[in-house]
Amino acid sequence: MHQIIEFIRQTFNTQDFIPLHEPRFIGNEKKYLNDCIDTTYVSSVGKYVDEFESQIAHYIGSKYAVATVNGTSALHIALKLANVSQGDEVITQPLTFIATCNAISYCQASPVFVDVDIDTLGMSPHALEQFLEKHCQRINNQCHNRTTGKIIKACVPMHTFGHPCRIEEIKTICDDWYITVIEDAAESLGSYYKGRHTGTFGKLGTLSFNGNKIITSGGGGAIVTDDEALAKKAKHLTTTAKIPHPYEYVHDETGYNYRLPNINAALLVAQLENLENFLRSKRELARIYSSYFANTEIQFIKEPQSSSSNYWLQAVMLKDEKQRNEFLEYTNKNGVMTRPIWRLMNKLEMYKNCQCSDLKNSKYLEERVVNIPSSVRI
Ligand SMILES: *Cc1c(COP(=O)(O)O)cnc(C)c1O
Repeated sequence: MHQIIEFIRQTFNTQDFIPLHEPRFIGNEKKYLNDCIDTTYVSSVGKYVDEFESQIAHYIGSKYAVATVNGTSALHIALKLANVSQGDEVITQPLTFIATCNAISYCQASPVFVDVDIDTLGMSPHALEQFLEKHCQRINNQCHNRTTGKIIKACVPMHTFGHPCRIEEIKTICDDWYITVIEDAAESLGSYYKGRHTGTFGKLGTLSFNGNKIITSGGGGAIVTDDEALAKKAKHLTTTAKIPHPYEYVHDETGYNYRLPNINAALLVAQLENLENFLRSKRELARIYSSYFANTEIQFIKEPQSSSSNYWLQAVMLKDEKQRNEFLEYTNKNGVMTRPIWRLMNKLEMYKNCQCSDLKNSKYLEERVVNIPSSVRI
């Protein structure tokens, strides 16, 4: 254990506390922020929002992007655009950050949890297909859950820590069952599955630019899609559903104040200029960790086959729960921050009665996976 601490200290070249993930502002951030302040365009009007939306769409290869205040609001609106409403069900994975489930709850729908694959840490197409065949029925181009009597409207797979899940296979299955795929790509900007950027396989994809993500605006998010009508609707709903007019305030439905302020977009435009550097640094860190842990009892988690991961958060797999707890205790006590993967969503009070497939892989990973320091090194 002591050797691991020493190795991580040497890798980050410091004897101080090492956080899990720190943002880096090493480019034009201050310049663009000053521009916002000098021109007074700090809020909902300004050139950086448009600039960022077009740059991020171009980067990931989707036709449209709509910036939002955070990733959770992006998911909320994406689910609404998929017509998820009161009493519906949405399939997702139990191994995810709470935001995925919160957004489902905001639509007054409930999650259904299917298991993940061990190698991707993301939704298993096999578990998904088995679940649908066992419990569901196609009626009038909708997926009816025979067990709960509800309609499954959408499926939200997530690319855990930046490692792509088998999204192409998941999309094929969902198409076959009339289920809309919304990809939670909050953690996977810069990650590709079979050469295609994550977030572009589903009807809609969502991104997050929270403080701990690979690029950040403090808080921010985006909805991406190739569907022009959905993109327009996303912009409308996130802009209080105001009908564009030079001075009149008329709104045609209940909208949301989910627009990203120009000042946050300015940060993102600067951060995006450094994304390739960040990706290179994280890949190099993964290589360093991987060769170090190869000589230990601890397994470093590498990008799955057929994919290129952004290695946003680096992760290791411990032998069992006991060894995991010892590892967490020792590292955190010694100023090296580490964190276990999330508690499974179906164990939380709000979701304890939700339907689940057999979750053996999720449980296995929950007991063993730990994130280790992952910041871009300077
Ligand atoms: C970060 C994250 C989100 C969005 O979080 P916000 O803080 O609202 O931007 C959504 N899903 C996952 C899996 C995340 O990691």
